[in-house]
Amino acid sequence: MTRDIEQFAQLGIGEALTNALLEYGIGKPSPIQAEAIPYILEGRDVLAQSQTGTGKTLAYLLPLLQRIDPDKKESQVLVIAPTQELAMQIVREGEKYGEPLGVSTIGLIGGASAARQVEKLRHRPHLVVGTPGRLRELLSTRKLKLHEARTVVLDEADQIFQLGGADDIRALLKGSLRDRQLIFLSATLGPDVRALADREMRDPADVGIEPEQKLAKTTQHLYFVCEERDRIDILRRVVRHYNPQRAIVFVNQANTIAEVEAKLNHLGLAARTLYGDADKVTRATVLSQFRSGKFRLLVATDVAARGLDIPGLELVVHLDPATDSEHYVHRAGRTGRMGRKGLSVSIVTDRQEFIMRKFSRELETKIEPRTLYDGAVLTPAEAEERRSGAARRTPKKSAGTSPAGRSEAGASPAPQGGASDSDAASSARGESPQRSAAPGRTNPGKPAASAGRGSKGGKKQPNKDKGAPKWLKDKRSSQDPS
Ligand code: ADP
Ligand code: MG
Repeated sequence: MTRDIEQFAQLGIGEALTNALLEYGIGKPSPIQAEAIPYILEGRDVLAQSQTGTGKTLAYLLPLLQRIDPDKKESQVLVIAPTQELAMQIVREGEKYGEPLGVSTIGLIGGASAARQVEKLRHRPHLVVGTPGRLRELLSTRKLKLHEARTVVLDEADQIFQLGGADDIRALLKGSLRDRQLIFLSATLGPDVRALADREMRDPADVGIEPEQKLAKTTQHLYFVCEERDRIDILRRVVRHYNPQRAIVFVNQANTIAEVEAKLNHLGLAARTLYGDADKVTRATVLSQFRSGKFRLLVATDVAARGLDIPGLELVVHLDPATDSEHYVHRAGRTGRMGRKGLSVSIVTDRQEFIMRKFSRELETKIEPRTLYDGAVLTPAEAEERRSGAARRTPKKSAGTSPAGRSEAGASPAPQGGASDSDAASSARGESPQRSAAPGRTNPGKPAASAGRGSKGGKKQPNKDKGAPKWLKDKRSSQDPS
């Protein structure tokens, strides 16, 4: 039924919004938008599952903004999001598209001044977006009243469910109108959320764009095996090789995050951190600086895994492997959004390699091993060939090495194809907030550190590549005659 829908207007979206969309370069609805918008306009309850980065936000915001009566001073729509960052991202979209309609928006998130939020609430903003904790707080003190809320949206519903459980969600819903419209969305809607939907929704429209396909098809998934102590070095080489404009580096534990940040900065890779326990202002500043390109690597816990839409994010690195395939989906889902190319790289020890096979199986997606060898990213077979080539004493790097590594890796995110992979050139880019830094510039950061660890000057002699994983070095030294 959606196949021949070409325009938002045909879905029932009015001119004020279609004009606003065009202003932001959005002309055609995405499949999930084409499916969900008519139901949401009708007032139906909706369960929507589609891959990360497929436009779920506008799938609910557009029809809901349109249904808001701006003349009534009532909070008519409530959107619940699991993290401050995601809530604020939704607020910004709400403001962008609500403004031409005369719709007002408020963000209710933890860490920020409750008093100011309460003051703003007095004006009864039409669209309320918040995190569960702050919403609960304001509801329990009756500062926020939902008796006029006609619609409640749970964005990343399964995550909200995991945070507080069904009772928590029910408590949040209690204040809203009895016949309110309820909308749940995620790339991963498990049985728990579906059971809750069964209980709370009336005859929901279950819209899904290939719900079994959870990962964006435009993202390539690779992993590199190394010794535990070489993780950071592999990360450094992956970043140097792919040279992304921006990348998120996911870690599993907040207590080591500062150390990772320090090491990366020490290596000349501009990095900052985002994690749940940091204060709200820091979190907001870091994220906005990341969006605007002030630094290149965001080292984050899974708090950054849900829903964030960051332009130009070409690479996601799992410095620690994701805890399960669902977490993997959301982390990897920060890249490869809305048809763009993306690359998801996991760094694992040999004992963690099975996790990659497990995710691969569960997600029905190829997650392929790669090896960093002599500045190139190779498949195991290519690496083997290269090694035996080296053994036959042909140390000269073939002309195709780097480009082959890149095209073979497919999703080479940085289109600076011709750029050499040399440490000096790419560290200049890593240091600079602008990517157009002179490629010849030397690393003003810690030249000693990166020269000492890098493969500079050692490119033609693989055994000098000190950053190589130990198992690779061992293999090499047993084969390399030099
Ligand atoms: P999801 O919630 O499914 O992960 P988002 O709603 O964050 O995805 O949307 C991903 C990106 O796609 C955003 O940058 C958004 O502005 C953009 N986008 C949304 N709808 C469209 C569309 N119809 N055409 C092009 N880009 C779109
Ligand atoms: Mg989303």
